[in-house]
Amino acid sequence: MKQSFYGGVHPNDRKEATRHKAVTPLGAAPQQVVIAMSMHIGAPCKSVVAKGDHVTVGQKIGEIAGLGAPIHASVSGTVTAVEPRPYPGGNKVMSVVIENDFQDTFGSDLTPHPDYSKLTADEIVEIIKEAGVTGMGGAGFPTHVKISSGIGKVDTLILNGAECEPYITADHRLMLEQGERVIGGARILMQAFGLQSATIGVEANKPDAIEHLQALVGARADVHVESLRTRYPQGAEKQLIQRLTGREVPPGGLPAHVGCAVFNVGTAAAVYDAVVEGKPVTHRIVTVTGDAVKEPCNLLVPLGTSFQHLIDEAKGFAEEPDRVLTGGPMMGIAQHTLEVGIIKGTNAVLCLTRKEAAPIETEEVCLRCARCVNVCPMHLTPVYMHLYAGKGMWKEAEALNVMDCIECGSCNYICPGRLHLVQSFRMTKMELRQLAAKEKAAKEAAKA
Ligand code: SF4
Ligand code: SF4
Repeated sequence: MKQSFYGGVHPNDRKEATRHKAVTPLGAAPQQVVIAMSMHIGAPCKSVVAKGDHVTVGQKIGEIAGLGAPIHASVSGTVTAVEPRPYPGGNKVMSVVIENDFQDTFGSDLTPHPDYSKLTADEIVEIIKEAGVTGMGGAGFPTHVKISSGIGKVDTLILNGAECEPYITADHRLMLEQGERVIGGARILMQAFGLQSATIGVEANKPDAIEHLQALVGARADVHVESLRTRYPQGAEKQLIQRLTGREVPPGGLPAHVGCAVFNVGTAAAVYDAVVEGKPVTHRIVTVTGDAVKEPCNLLVPLGTSFQHLIDEAKGFAEEPDRVLTGGPMMGIAQHTLEVGIIKGTNAVLCLTRKEAAPIETEEVCLRCARCVNVCPMHLTPVYMHLYAGKGMWKEAEALNVMDCIECGSCNYICPGRLHLVQSFRMTKMELRQLAAKEKAAKEAAKA
């Protein structure tokens, strides 16, 4: 039975600036790209090119070194450095710097399969792996791993077109302008899982996309397009599953535990490109927006293009931004430099004015109003988790299931005390992971 999820908030969607703007290629190609060797959950890739090498668009430049997905060149040109560079997720990561020769010479090892109907599940998984497809909604989980670990367990395939974060319209424009890639990707994923149908969930604030996708599916009726109530975080994996199937993913569990697999619509489009066109992931759609830029836009961007270049494409700053985020205002990460390059999960560069940005204030006293508890879609108690985090009582916070926090920011949004709740939960989770690693190491040492 379909069920609405608990909690959530209704932020102003602020999508008006770009919802009607078609995706365009860059007006000026970047002089250089800085391609991070870590664009996914798991171990960073190992660079397989060196300074002085010539590379083509689609050539593999980073090879898997554990859980991960390979990384490919997004422009043709010469590698000028392989060194640590700033990264949108924070800190520096090993990166391949390519000087663009502006020839756009394509050279991938993948073979196109316009008729994929004879491909086996293993063959599809291998193509998706070699194409470097990862979750394009931001999470960055390697798609080939999600498919191979779900085959035989998954009976329900869901595509996530909710795009519930305010401001962002990258998925909306993708569904509207390139819906064939999304539907095609859904059908390839159905084939890999051995399923006869799939459901695409789209928030009701994108009626044109819903109508367009339904028209593309047509009489075949194998892909259902479902309109979802506009409520944040409708696009969070567990909330989407509950809304579409009525199944609840248990605390600490994965969608596959309740027979579901969820892929972002951008991921489905990348699957289509890989299998049908023989193209690895080299570009993605990015929404560049916020009142601090002169001309908000949706752009098709080569991976590794700097945030500064994208802001220049949006005709620069209308005023000095209060902050620049990768992603939306609820879950986005503030950037300390605009020299970072976009990665596979970068769906937006959001430039907020002082007026738009929630002020970063000195932490205030909790009013014990319980609003954070009422909006938490994971049924957590943010007020108490925060209290324990403030005292360094990590295990007590763990007992309150802080590890289940999806960092959606709903509690932060509603909190009248303007407490830095999500920030403290991120820190608590990091501390708990470090504690778990230490405990594991101590156990192994004791055994030896
Ligand atoms: S505690 Fe976590 S999951 Fe709950 S509202 Fe806050 S950020 Fe979202
Ligand atoms: S919403 Fe903020 S002020 Fe209210 S109980 Fe939660 S943490 Fe305290």
